[in-house]
Amino acid sequence: MADEKKLTPRAQDFSAWYNEVIMRAQMADYSPVRGCMVIRPNGYAIWELMTRGLDDMFKEHGVQNAYFPLFIPQSFLSKEAEHVEGFAPELAVVTHGGGKELEEPLVVRPTSETIIYSMYAKWIQSYRDLPVLMNQWCNVVRWEMRTRLFLRTAEFLWQEGHTAHVSEAEAEEFTLTILATYRRFAEEWMAMPVLTGRKTDSERFAGALRTYCIEALMQDNKALQAGTSHNLGQNFAKAFQVTYQSAEGGLEYVWNTSWGVSTRLVGALVMMHGDDNGIITPPKLAQYQVVVVPIWKSDEEKATVLQASQQVMRELKTGGIRAHLDAREGIKPGAKYYEWEGRGVPFRLEIGPRDVAAGSVMLARRTGGKKMPFATNGLVHSLRIEIDAMQQELLEAAKVRREQNSIRGVTKASFIDFMARDGGFAYGGWCGDAKCEADIKEQTKATIRCLPDEEFRSPEAPTVCMWCNSKATAEAVWAKAY
Ligand SMILES: [Zn+2]
Repeated sequence: MADEKKLTPRAQDFSAWYNEVIMRAQMADYSPVRGCMVIRPNGYAIWELMTRGLDDMFKEHGVQNAYFPLFIPQSFLSKEAEHVEGFAPELAVVTHGGGKELEEPLVVRPTSETIIYSMYAKWIQSYRDLPVLMNQWCNVVRWEMRTRLFLRTAEFLWQEGHTAHVSEAEAEEFTLTILATYRRFAEEWMAMPVLTGRKTDSERFAGALRTYCIEALMQDNKALQAGTSHNLGQNFAKAFQVTYQSAEGGLEYVWNTSWGVSTRLVGALVMMHGDDNGIITPPKLAQYQVVVVPIWKSDEEKATVLQASQQVMRELKTGGIRAHLDAREGIKPGAKYYEWEGRGVPFRLEIGPRDVAAGSVMLARRTGGKKMPFATNGLVHSLRIEIDAMQQELLEAAKVRREQNSIRGVTKASFIDFMARDGGFAYGGWCGDAKCEADIKEQTKATIRCLPDEEFRSPEAPTVCMWCNSKATAEAVWAKAY
């Protein structure tokens, strides 16, 4: 049964609130191994729905799933200089197997570019074999000591897509197609508005030509990188000799992309929509979109309301609505409401003897507002409208909140002030100098989240760098980040 102690309010300590919400909703727990987490069924259900939604979208673009090994020969990582340098500090390395020291240590994959491209070298011969569009759903390990449930753990679940193309233009196009797919998923499924754009060189993936990302603003005004899509150019193709015979008969290196989102998205969902009573799950990602709570006092009432509740359950199920009947004995309705609220169930249907007599049910929304009676007749139809409306409202509310916490055309002074106060997304000119970027980070803790795509840029392009006043090469969006 749920612990009825109130959660720490978000305004008081967002980080404490976040951990309490996840523990209270039984979404995850700490593991005996430091840095690792256990994803419990209530958390895994959300991830599972995420994977289904995304997987369908990838397949619409012709991507197929495959599976590559967990272990990678250590020498593979060294083949791409920038890649090994980027990942070396966080590698877990296996030196013994079957009681013997291994001839070559094996790295537990932090990401799979190297092993996948070593296989592509074998499989790709001709331009007719291209493009290769593969994805794998798997776990990866990056040795993290400062961990946060879902946001940063040593082992996490993700998908990593890896493609090979005949030209740079085609690889770039696919990189951006996936970026757009991530954005669509974030907005349509997670009700999470995101900025899309390119990472600066200092935030670029180790070994990539260009890294693109989706960035979201959490309720504490910190940014969260929610997904990345990389144009790898020919860096890995050259390291692993992934070549093909062109139509003209020459031997060419392929052009690669890689892209991924992880269980971090579950953490993003909590921080995007939760309130002081717990998580609010957008209906599309809710394990149960509706929970039915029958209310009775006498045995006679019990028989009536349970029968009516089961009938409602059958209709919801037939109508494709994910529903759960909470007919547990010995728990007061109020306690049940509290528990389901903490778990973020979008809608609750209360069915008491009077409702049965009136041919209706009481509908309560997780996002607040008055409870409303709905006729049992046509309930699926009414609920569908409510479900779509809540999904849309959550997105709209998140957009409004993001814009309220964004400023444009910052100067050095207004930027420092903004970051010292509540923070958020700050748009301003940037000179393109990594030194300037590093200074800003050191003095304000804010980093360039992305050089935003045109759609997100300010109407008037900045002319000078907001920090050093030299000529601006781009508009950038800064924020403190997870
Ligand atoms: Zn500058």
